[in-house]
Amino acid sequence: MNWLISIIAFLLGLSIGSFCNVCIYRLPLRKSIILPRSYCPLCEKQIAWYDNIPLFSFLILKGRCRHCRGPISIQYPLVELLVGLLFVVAYLSVGSRGLSSILIPFFWYFCASLVVLSVIDWKHFIIPDVVIYPLILLGFILAAVLPRHLDATGIIPALLRALLGASVGGLSLWLIGVLGRAVFKKEAMGLGDVKLMAAVGAWQGWQMVLLAIFLGALVASVVGVTFIILKKAQWGSRIPFGPFLAAGSLITLFFGWEILFWYLGLY
Ligand SMILES: [Zn+2]
Repeated sequence: MNWLISIIAFLLGLSIGSFCNVCIYRLPLRKSIILPRSYCPLCEKQIAWYDNIPLFSFLILKGRCRHCRGPISIQYPLVELLVGLLFVVAYLSVGSRGLSSILIPFFWYFCASLVVLSVIDWKHFIIPDVVIYPLILLGFILAAVLPRHLDATGIIPALLRALLGASVGGLSLWLIGVLGRAVFKKEAMGLGDVKLMAAVGAWQGWQMVLLAIFLGALVASVVGVTFIILKKAQWGSRIPFGPFLAAGSLITLFFGWEILFWYLGLY
């Protein structure tokens, strides 16, 4: 019943994506993510439950508020769709690699957190600590709950591997930041990026976090060059690195070891 669970995972992802939108909007404003209920930022009318159904309400309302007809940002359905799809990929990747199903809720949490911090970083150039610290903590909890996940046989070795991964991830990015400052004479990397890669290292181990940084830089270069060609940005424009690191980290979460073995087998 793979397809049935995939559909349930997708619908769950849509709802969590809807909650991610609340976090993306409210966390940088330091507002509560629980109360009050969602309201239209333009006319401030509360949004009824039937106008708050992920993806579908946006389509039915044709992207406009029911009361003031003001435009609803396309970001809302896109984030919902992205989280929905990531939930399906996470479920399928755990199943197809024969991993423990305990990993599925952990992977879902990882995906949702990375989407939230990517969009916030993209819009505000910050990665909030309230997203990153629980993510780091949960990386260590995962190691303790499922030592096998980091290829360890006991809780202590697993925690040490998580610590090694966090250190390698954080230090590598900190070093890239120092080199970037020396070469380009300007701030290249924020402390948020360093903490993000520490979190990813705790979750995925030192090999995967290095691969994630490499893939993130690769995606960033491709996107950066495309933007410059399309004249949407200039050489040296400020582009947040967080979303690219997050993209690299999601690729390694789902396909990291496959990519590494393919690479090692090829060369
Ligand atoms: Zn409105």
